[in-house]
Amino acid sequence: MSTEPNNAEEISPDNINLENHPCFNKEACSTYGRIHLPVAPKCNIQCNYCNRDFDCVNESRPGVTSTVLSPGQALAYLEKIMEKRDDIAVVGIAGPGDPFANAEATMETFRLVREAFPKMILCLSTNGLGLTEDYVKELAELKVSHVTITMNGTDPEIAGKVYAWARDNTRIYRGTQAGEIMIEKQLQAIKWIKQYGMIAKVNSIIVPGINDEHLKVVAKTVSELGADIMNCIPLLPTKDTAFEHLPEPDAKMRFALRLKCGEYMNQMTHCARCRADAIGKLSEPMSEDIHELIQSCSRLPINPKQNRPYVAVATREGMLVNQHLGEAREFAIFGIDPEDEEEFVQVETRPAPEPGGRENRWEALAGSLKDCRAIIVNAAGSTPKQALTKEGIQVVEMEGMIDMGLTHIFHGQELPPTLKRQFKSCGAGVSCGGDGTGCG
Ligand code: SF4
Ligand code: SF4
Repeated sequence: MSTEPNNAEEISPDNINLENHPCFNKEACSTYGRIHLPVAPKCNIQCNYCNRDFDCVNESRPGVTSTVLSPGQALAYLEKIMEKRDDIAVVGIAGPGDPFANAEATMETFRLVREAFPKMILCLSTNGLGLTEDYVKELAELKVSHVTITMNGTDPEIAGKVYAWARDNTRIYRGTQAGEIMIEKQLQAIKWIKQYGMIAKVNSIIVPGINDEHLKVVAKTVSELGADIMNCIPLLPTKDTAFEHLPEPDAKMRFALRLKCGEYMNQMTHCARCRADAIGKLSEPMSEDIHELIQSCSRLPINPKQNRPYVAVATREGMLVNQHLGEAREFAIFGIDPEDEEEFVQVETRPAPEPGGRENRWEALAGSLKDCRAIIVNAAGSTPKQALTKEGIQVVEMEGMIDMGLTHIFHGQELPPTLKRQFKSCGAGVSCGGDGTGCG
């Protein structure tokens, strides 16, 4: 897709009211809200305070989301929200992992949102590791105006204590080396953000006994690079993390620290430590109806605007889902019964590409299923899953009656947890008639 704005005049910064961002302007808090689109599930680092496994609507902290959406699903969700509310001024991407560990989905989401909502404020929050100059350049072209980098130290030894590991491309760094690579990338990211004319916020997590004495140095360093505002966020000790036993910084520590950092940087003092799917005014809890809405959008086709009337199923006899992706030699193709929308009919059988050929096999399969919104199988490896998802075909792993899977996909009904399956490794768990060499 072109990164050229569809109407350059309409999305000039003059026409986007940057003052309405409730995080950057406390005055806007009571009038305007933001929506986070949870399109970025993976992370390229492990912070010692982060646990993204916990999913609960009552839990409000970064990394938590009730679901993950594809870019197309995220746009459909946003469109439905905008029909209901007129106070949403900002669309942000803040996880539940890191936006640039999921760069394709992040950039595609911004392109779709900018095209549909030319006057929307766009913002994102990242650890900075995967942010390249090319991405920053395209973000600027898309008029993404606010970028937050979470930076917990400028001393590699101190920063290294905050990260269990950091993965830059294929290389894993730990300890001081992780601190070094993170600092290098984060400082460079701030320079690019300012060079391309965006507002730079620096988030720093106050970790008592680790970096609290050091954050003043962070403030000084980022202020010299032109960063605009700093957000010192108190650690939220979270279960099953390395920092779960550390104390939460009290009001006295927070106040003293913001005073010290305030010598160099404007301080944000009203951060609500939001979920990756936060919506509405800051601190507004997620309501049950929004929760249902986002869940139903997660069950839309990956590209909701494409016409894909069918679903492919790996089955031996046409009643049960009972084959792994790699062992199926053909797929049953189902659609909605034109005479009764609640029923499904098998319209044809399509041959699977011959085994072997690695990625080519899955590209060929995706090509032969261009009219299918999903494929239902007992299990599938990560390579075919990626290849199919990239082409807009959702991979559903389950067992049981085919009708249950079709109702889930066509009518958005939740799949019973007892029927859900997840691929663990080739040859493990439920039996596969393949040769155990993977879905190659
Ligand atoms: Fe969690 Fe964000 Fe740290 Fe990744 S960068 S480990 S999502 S807090
Ligand atoms: Fe704003 Fe803080 Fe919430 Fe981010 S976490 S959206 S900065 S209030």
